[in-house]
Amino acid sequence: MSDSSFIPMRHYFESGATRTYSFRAEQLNRLKKAILHHENEINKALYHDLKKSKEEAYATETGLVIAEINYILKNLRSWILPKTTGTDLVNFPSGSKIYCDPYGVVLIIAPWNYPLQLLLIPLVGAIAGGNCAVLKPSELAPATAAIIEKMISETFSPEFVKVIQGDGATVVPSMMNSFRFDYLMYTGSVPVGKSIYQLAARDLIPVTLELGGKSPAVVEDDADIKAAARRISLGKFINVGQTCVAPDYVLVHASVKEKLVAHLKKEILHFYGEDPAASYDYGKIINEKRFDRLTGYLKEGTILHGGQTDRSRLYIAPTLLENVSEDAAIMNEEIFGPILPILTFASFDKALRVVQRNPNPLSFYLFTSNKRKEENWIGSLSFGGGCINNTVWQFSNPHLPFGGVGNSGMGHLHGKYSFDTFTRLKPVLKTPNWFDPALKYPSYKGKLNFFKWIIR
Ligand code: NAD
Repeated sequence: MSDSSFIPMRHYFESGATRTYSFRAEQLNRLKKAILHHENEINKALYHDLKKSKEEAYATETGLVIAEINYILKNLRSWILPKTTGTDLVNFPSGSKIYCDPYGVVLIIAPWNYPLQLLLIPLVGAIAGGNCAVLKPSELAPATAAIIEKMISETFSPEFVKVIQGDGATVVPSMMNSFRFDYLMYTGSVPVGKSIYQLAARDLIPVTLELGGKSPAVVEDDADIKAAARRISLGKFINVGQTCVAPDYVLVHASVKEKLVAHLKKEILHFYGEDPAASYDYGKIINEKRFDRLTGYLKEGTILHGGQTDRSRLYIAPTLLENVSEDAAIMNEEIFGPILPILTFASFDKALRVVQRNPNPLSFYLFTSNKRKEENWIGSLSFGGGCINNTVWQFSNPHLPFGGVGNSGMGHLHGKYSFDTFTRLKPVLKTPNWFDPALKYPSYKGKLNFFKWIIR
């Protein structure tokens, strides 16, 4: 299989040019410079696509990529070195080393909600790993996709990194039908993730899938309710709820529901004012299709707060919803918007059952002051990652692996985990010639007791 436009990338990779430490470090520094050089254009694009303020653009997009580059540059030299490991008695006097080998030409596909960092953080890992990369930005954030293409084409040679634009449903299968990529990194929705996994399986291409799902925020009766309300509001309404790790719904102990709702209302008012549509800090829904889907959810419960919408401005107010049925669409689909259903529970078992209706959430958030409850929840649930007494910030810590499990994906990103994702462990045993016992060679007749002594 070959596509003439990717063949030069394969040749470039095979030339070994991307493997040295100095090349990788230089390219990461170039990327950092390019991002800082284009920061104003990036901010304009993110405002155009999602109405992000420049502060939010830095804190949730540009700054995260810069921090990832800085963190990786601090550690890359030691990560690249082959690691000497132990050797068993059978192999005496050999030595053993593990090399971290780049895969080759990797394909990175990103969604529209954090259209810059969800494309470039994986790119940083791919470059650090010594790979060439093809980037497929989301067509639904076109201004950001355009500035990314401009920046990448100015910064890197097309044999090393290139951007392919277009409708994912046609462009991605077409690329994968004509060229065998060596690794595939996909961030996006579960249904598309499944179809991409199938395409990759056909050619045995290893994958990392960063998907979505319904991430709960559980608030126990012993939680600090004021802090819980503030941190849930931030995680839910930043980027207008269009965040893969946003708390999708709240599951609060019935005895503290009223108090939590009162504090949530206060925090929403405090963050976004009386009219969030006019707020500097409140963005917009990505497009009409998503707007229509989200406003449909508003009919599935009783509005406790918010609920105002304006299709012409793609505006949906930060909204709290109660009396939502577990069978309603809003409780069976990832909401991915600024609507927060509030459900109550009376016992751990009942709460666990609600969460397990949508298994393997990408994130899980627990608010409690009780260590035993903390351990109980963490030990009882399968989830990608999460926080105790906080939301979403786990994403920004490069020391923590980021990724889903089961329905929310597979594989990890960020910091060393990105480097590990974009490299393969290549083990090598090296044997000197000064000692070569005949016992290892045929005929084996009569050597059983020796084998049983040495192989155990
Ligand atoms: P999406 O799956 O529609 O699109 C993501 C990318 O896939 C885009 O580049 C698109 O062009 C491409 N694409 C679309 N259809 C395709 C097809 N049939 N074949 C191949 N490629 C195709 O996702 P989205 O709507 O852009 O993003 C929202 C989803 O992403 C949510 O479910 C969210 O939870 C998830 N997400 C996950 C993470 C994470 O890190 N786990 C981060 C952000 C978003």
